[in-house]
Amino acid sequence: MTQAALILNAGSSSIKFALFPAEGGDAPLLTGSVEWRTDRAVLHLAPAGAAREIRAIDAPDHPAALEAIAAALGDRQIAMVGHRIVHGGPDFTAPAPIDDSVLSALEALVPLAPLHLPQAIGGIRATRALYPNARQVAVFDTAFHAEKPWLHNAFALPGEMYDAGIRRYGFHGISCQSILRTLGTEGFELAGSKLIIAHLGNGCSMTAVRDGRCHATSMGFSTLDGLVMGTRSGRIDPGVILHWLRAGKTGAEIERILYYGAGLLGLSGISNDMRELEASETPEARGAIDMFVARAIEEASRLAGTMGGLDHIVFCGGIGENAAELRDRIMEGLAFLPGPNGQRPGMLVRATREEHEILCALRGAA
Ligand code: ADP
Repeated sequence: MTQAALILNAGSSSIKFALFPAEGGDAPLLTGSVEWRTDRAVLHLAPAGAAREIRAIDAPDHPAALEAIAAALGDRQIAMVGHRIVHGGPDFTAPAPIDDSVLSALEALVPLAPLHLPQAIGGIRATRALYPNARQVAVFDTAFHAEKPWLHNAFALPGEMYDAGIRRYGFHGISCQSILRTLGTEGFELAGSKLIIAHLGNGCSMTAVRDGRCHATSMGFSTLDGLVMGTRSGRIDPGVILHWLRAGKTGAEIERILYYGAGLLGLSGISNDMRELEASETPEARGAIDMFVARAIEEASRLAGTMGGLDHIVFCGGIGENAAELRDRIMEGLAFLPGPNGQRPGMLVRATREEHEILCALRGAA
């Protein structure tokens, strides 16, 4: 029986997974997800070369969902499991083979990413129980950003706060690495290049990449900073939060607004989904898209400033890959920047392949 590598991405309302051969090719044997709707959990399965399947399952929580996934994988032998971990704190700057000490270190990081890490840790515990002999590796979204210069890693706060972990970590790093891997295999010369990777999906970020390394990024201490997102605010004056606190809002209420009630959804009052907004005629939907574009131009201009120029923007993510008119508007707003050879900055569009990037890390850890 061929051995397989399972890649897991456990989020707050879904678990995405992909199964690859443990060695050899990189075409998935199967992809799928468990998504929690208001009243039930739904399992999606897309096996290579066979019909897709969607069915409701009895899975109130992540461990139960992972059991359902394991059952759906049948008797395939899982030799490796790779976990996408949103936050690696200051110390996880490369993929980490998982053992008890790594699990404890991840537990200690929960206060840095309380909405994401508990699910990922639950996923690790469940898969260790399900596949006790499999090699398990944690791959971090923050790791790619860890080596950026202090100027773009620190806030203007007293140094002891930086030492205590209050930093601009940056996220979507696995996506950035996968884009750079793709460009590398196409023969794109990264040495000497000034790129911005614009990952525009439900979460949105831009990362300045100089010579193939992270230089600065739009997301900061949390996944809230920077661009307008599906339901997240992006950059906001911290004075607003202080005002809300003084006015009696609780931390949980503020968290709910900033993570789930803001961004495209909050602005439009209709949807967090760019396709729906593009199809809508309301002034609020138009305003939400205009703000999305304006903030993208602002952020790319700032990041270009940190590098002293910009050669290309690489668009990826559901919006970045598909929303052509919106991309053109962003590029038009950046036409003032000097690109390579005195021309405008160029535009590239690539698919992010996060699962594949985690697979590479998993195979590399052998
Ligand atoms: P996630 O961050 O959850 O992985 P995706 O990267 O899949 O999300 O991006 C989802 C976003 O991409 C949604 O706002 C969706 O409307 C948008 N999107 C997908 N296809 C298109 C399209 N053809 N035109 C405009 N937006 C699109």
